[in-house]
Amino acid sequence: MSLADRFAKVRADFPILRRRFHGKELVYLDSAATTLKPEPVVKRIADYYLLESANVHRGAYALSDEATRNFEEARADVASLIHASPEEIVFVRNTTEAVNLAAHSWAEKNLSPGDHILITELEHHANIVPWQILAEKKGLKVVAARILDNGQVDEADLFAKLKEPVKLLAITGCSNALGTFTDLSKIIPRAHAAGVKVLVDAAQLISQKPVNVRELDVDFLVFSGHKLFGPTGIGVFYARHELLKDMPPWQGGGSMIAEVTLEKTTFNEAPFRFEAGTPHIEGTVGLHAAIRYFQALDFDDVRAWEHALLKKATDGLRGIPGIILYGDVPDKGAILSFNLRGAHHSDVGQILDQQGVAVRAGHHCTQPLMKRLGVPGTVRASFSIYNNDADVEAFLKAVSKARELLT
Ligand code: PLP
Repeated sequence: MSLADRFAKVRADFPILRRRFHGKELVYLDSAATTLKPEPVVKRIADYYLLESANVHRGAYALSDEATRNFEEARADVASLIHASPEEIVFVRNTTEAVNLAAHSWAEKNLSPGDHILITELEHHANIVPWQILAEKKGLKVVAARILDNGQVDEADLFAKLKEPVKLLAITGCSNALGTFTDLSKIIPRAHAAGVKVLVDAAQLISQKPVNVRELDVDFLVFSGHKLFGPTGIGVFYARHELLKDMPPWQGGGSMIAEVTLEKTTFNEAPFRFEAGTPHIEGTVGLHAAIRYFQALDFDDVRAWEHALLKKATDGLRGIPGIILYGDVPDKGAILSFNLRGAHHSDVGQILDQQGVAVRAGHHCTQPLMKRLGVPGTVRASFSIYNNDADVEAFLKAVSKARELLT
């Protein structure tokens, strides 16, 4: 079967793509914000509610045992997706909550006044703001490694900054605004050599490259289910077991305890110590179904397909006068960021919407990056497994129309 035939079958699993907006078939190019959900994932969630609904970890009956088994199998498969162990996987709401967990548990315990947290100019607000809040509270400092004009991290600057009193490097694996990758296999050993722990924001990376926490030797890694064809409200916090087992709880309540008296509580072991209250059970089984769906596709095929779309779209944009591309490097995720000279990104986004083309226009929750690039925002088109050549053609036609109308 050709790649086109294979991905035409994938597309058929996403009924939302048959909807029409403004009289036009939906062209969804905002997968970096959230991916669409295939039917098997939605069906799995419906099955949980219709046939399996029970709480986990506490029932004395078969239905609850089944729910617990399904919940823990989801944890095991999330672990195997990133080559971790199940006891290193904590379920959280999303990437944002995972970063906050790292900040308010590990970092709050292990960092002292005067210590620095190193980030980069590429980061999403989710990997900036939690560190600033903690810094304010504990007398720490957040410093940022610069980027080059092409949207890649300036490694010379980052390596120069990896020194006392930096204790943590919190860095994205793939920029959500530009699609540029960071070279983690080079950066992480340099950080460790300097005695610096590393947290990787894999919100975009997880769908763009295979992730192996053992090979990367990373300390913490975080991502969201909804950017990997899974439901919203479920995310993953990975921490190396040696670190997780000594991390203090950050939220108290049911399930995370060993024993409670009115005077004192002792806590459950990791990862349960970090999952207070009834978890997002349908979210975990939905994420499990999403991982199975994604793993049934060959990753090399996914890369080849998305990159052919990215290349066609990029080459097409280059042919339109007045286009300015950002993060325009050969090896990148399937994310395209641009502006039209003389036009505001929001106006471009609106005209694309009128043509049925859904893109993101704005700062992409990366205001410091936009400031560094000297723009208030960009237009971002991101491609995924359900897009096709016709989507790219509709996108290019819509951008040409925007140019006609706005410049
Ligand atoms: N980090 C990156 C690189 C992202 O792209 C996003 C979402 O756009 C986030 C963090 C935050 O993810 P969430 O909103 O799911 O917590």
